[in-house]
Amino acid sequence: MTPLSRRTVLRSAAIAGGAALGVSTARPAVAADTAAIAFIGATVVDGTGALPKTDQTLVVRGDRIVALGPRERTPVPRGARIVEVAGKYVIPGLFDSHAHSGEWADISPRLNIANGVTTVRELFGMPHLHEWRGRVDAGTMLGPRSVIASRIIDGPATTGGPEFLTVVTTDAEARAAVRKARKSGADFVKVYSGLPLDLYDAVADESRRIGIRFAGHCPDAVPLAHAAAAGQRSVEHLYSTSYSASTREDEIRRLIAEGGGERGDLLGWITRIHRLEWMAAGSHSPRKAARLFATLVRRGVRMVPTLVVNRVMDRPGEVDTADPRLKYLPAAVTGYWAQAFQSFFVDSRTPAEQAEWHALLDFRLEFTGAMSRAGVPILVGTDGGDVPYVFPGFGVHDELANLVEAGLSPMRALQAATVEPARFLGLDRLLGTVEQGKAADLVVLDADPLADIANTRRIHAVVTRGRLITAGERTLILADVERAAAAVDRAVPVKGGCCFRGARKG
Ligand SMILES: [Zn+2]
Repeated sequence: MTPLSRRTVLRSAAIAGGAALGVSTARPAVAADTAAIAFIGATVVDGTGALPKTDQTLVVRGDRIVALGPRERTPVPRGARIVEVAGKYVIPGLFDSHAHSGEWADISPRLNIANGVTTVRELFGMPHLHEWRGRVDAGTMLGPRSVIASRIIDGPATTGGPEFLTVVTTDAEARAAVRKARKSGADFVKVYSGLPLDLYDAVADESRRIGIRFAGHCPDAVPLAHAAAAGQRSVEHLYSTSYSASTREDEIRRLIAEGGGERGDLLGWITRIHRLEWMAAGSHSPRKAARLFATLVRRGVRMVPTLVVNRVMDRPGEVDTADPRLKYLPAAVTGYWAQAFQSFFVDSRTPAEQAEWHALLDFRLEFTGAMSRAGVPILVGTDGGDVPYVFPGFGVHDELANLVEAGLSPMRALQAATVEPARFLGLDRLLGTVEQGKAADLVVLDADPLADIANTRRIHAVVTRGRLITAGERTLILADVERAAAAVDRAVPVKGGCCFRGARKG
């Protein structure tokens, strides 16, 4: 993100916090502090990696945590609203580092908040997201804080349609797209899978020149270590990341250079990279991987594996196509989900191919675990809202479980959704941990997330910018989302998206 937008986020937080403090200091010192909320008795898993602290008192005033400590040593301001949370667990508000919020203001943003997701990184910079950010920051709309990408910049053999991405074919176009991204108010430039190496380098160079960060997919034609050296800040998904750890890398690179991709053919691309990823998995070299991971660590690259996406793509047989959470999305979305799911992940594959896909998920889980053990910071991201059966908000909890299955401890997984993305976005002064002085973005859980990561789903209450959403309010919000989803006209075409919306089936 640019320093400017980071300042904007911090400033808006400071204004909100300052305003609340202003009100309370204007009162006589003896007056009751009714603006404060005191959570009493919880175990706090603060996100720093420290051991959980039991029986804590946590005081929120305005949008900040103003006190935190053992119950017996932490005074509760007189008149504060008391929230008894003995037996409950407080964790930092969660981040989804790869979101695609749809165009309905009362759906994705609310699903995020109801799921304890208080900050999202939007990977496709549709104009309405900037408008929402203004409203959320002003306190007139319920939704997460957001960091917003540019339009997607892709190469000539792109898999997407022109509606949601900028296709560049020359060095000048690539550079112009970067400048336009900055003008549009994007926090960072998003690169995509079809960028050829020379145009990728032009995007990287122009981004550096004008001082905007870039992140996104690791393009098929760009070795991961090259992307890291070029300054790519995060790599979204595991697509094409395993080639550089293969003993058959030269052969894979030759096949990529031969191309064969046809513009807009998403299924063709998925099928093609599947063959290459299958080759890479069968010729994986732990030694090459270790070198690759060391490069990522040295360059400070973050990985956002989005295993939730792979779980659907790799194991469609295990997907619940009658998932009860479908009721929170408009039929216009779930309709294309069902269609895309069937044609992309089921009908297009032979049983033998389906078995390969199934096995690849194990490889991806191992790959992710090895990356984390090597010290590569992993971030929880979902792609929720675009990929079939990956649910906005809820998907964060699904991905947390995936990361634990990949070998991360529950603590490391939690950090991948809290302190790690906060650091990555340069927002760690404000967000990512439960500490005095930090923003009051919190999730109160009914059970211990370190004992079982599935317990992050057992949400009792959410605090977003100091606003408490109780269990009862949370139930009402979800019921509202369900109503809003049902009210969307089925015939309205869905705008935007990343891969699957409006994608050609080959
Ligand atoms: Zn995406």
